[in-house]
Amino acid sequence: MAQHPSAHLDRFRERTRLVHAGRDPFEQHGFVNTPIYRGSTVLYPNVDEFLHRRNTKFTYGTQGTPTIRSLETAWSGLAGAAETVLTPSGLAAITLALMTVCEAGTHILVPDSVYRPTRNFCDTVLRRLGIETTYYDPLLGEDIRELFRPNTTVVFTEAPGSQTFEMQDIPAIAAVAHARDAVVLMDNTWATPLFFPPHENGVDICIEAGTKYLSGGSDLLIGLTSANETWAKRLRDTASAFAMCAGPEDAFLGLRGLRTMALRLKEHERQALEMARWFEARPEVARVLHPALETDPGHAIWKRDFKGSSGLFSIILNPASREALAAMVDGLELFGIGASWGGFESLVLPFDPRAYRTATRWEAEGPALRFHIGLEDLDDLKADLEAGFDRLRATA
Ligand SMILES: *Cc1c(COP(=O)(O)O)cnc(C)c1O
Repeated sequence: MAQHPSAHLDRFRERTRLVHAGRDPFEQHGFVNTPIYRGSTVLYPNVDEFLHRRNTKFTYGTQGTPTIRSLETAWSGLAGAAETVLTPSGLAAITLALMTVCEAGTHILVPDSVYRPTRNFCDTVLRRLGIETTYYDPLLGEDIRELFRPNTTVVFTEAPGSQTFEMQDIPAIAAVAHARDAVVLMDNTWATPLFFPPHENGVDICIEAGTKYLSGGSDLLIGLTSANETWAKRLRDTASAFAMCAGPEDAFLGLRGLRTMALRLKEHERQALEMARWFEARPEVARVLHPALETDPGHAIWKRDFKGSSGLFSIILNPASREALAAMVDGLELFGIGASWGGFESLVLPFDPRAYRTATRWEAEGPALRFHIGLEDLDDLKADLEAGFDRLRATA
């Protein structure tokens, strides 16, 4: 290995690229990983270089270090992006993407099923800056054209929807948006670029909460905003203006997660799909919201556009009292009640979209639960849930 393959990764397949992207051991004394560079000051060799920066790769700590650039480069390769910027969290990746594209006096379209803190940012910060948000039915495909106004410049998307898993027709929405010179943003956290390559499907700026599957360990907060050629410079300049930067240890952990992300996702996919089918057969369950299930209303779009599904899905129970639901969930031994998913452990969370939806009506037979299926033994998980359903029935 006279030269590390990172210099010409394009000819390799995805899993090989995940192993080699964004690192060059021979620039690091032969050590396999790019180390954690900590630093604010960057020194220049002379006045000429300081003034003209002809050979300078790094200028100041907030503008990136070799550790940060390693993950950004690797992610751009994976996502098919021209540029990636690391942010301190997934939500920061969303707000950076919006601040890159929004201008005072314009109108933006956001799906009603969007990650709730995204909605909060639109309703508070963007509103104060004179940007108006219309929430739209996530099931609108090309019919979204009817919601365009002369000043509509941004269409935000997220597929599947947070908590409720509606599939969006991203290519159809992107075609309508681009015909009107609007920019398309997507929160792709659920699928990651491994299961949905965003930019080749019409997304201009894409968001990934690396906190979830890039980390895989519930021990990291990081976000990635990637852009195609058209928006690359504007994204980098906006991040630079905010000095929006991730910490060096966090970038290092993100790089470590990247190497095993494909394997972990495949296993989350397999386990979650089996659990989803198991739930479908349970008499206590009215519906399972998982686009990879043939019975799911979004299945056709998922099958056409996505290469896989991840470990997160929801179920709707048949009518049950709050006490019965609490008896079921509180007694689970292997499912933690927690929000940030994507780690090795299983999670459960009750939710009720009626509290915040504005463009669509959420109708469900009974209480809704979101599950993240971790890497535990499936029979152990089923036994835990079986006992939970026993408690549900006993309390109802
Ligand atoms: C978790 C999540 C985020 C935010 O990520 P944080 O790192 O927790 O800020 C954004 N979008 C989606 C879909 C998420 O699930």
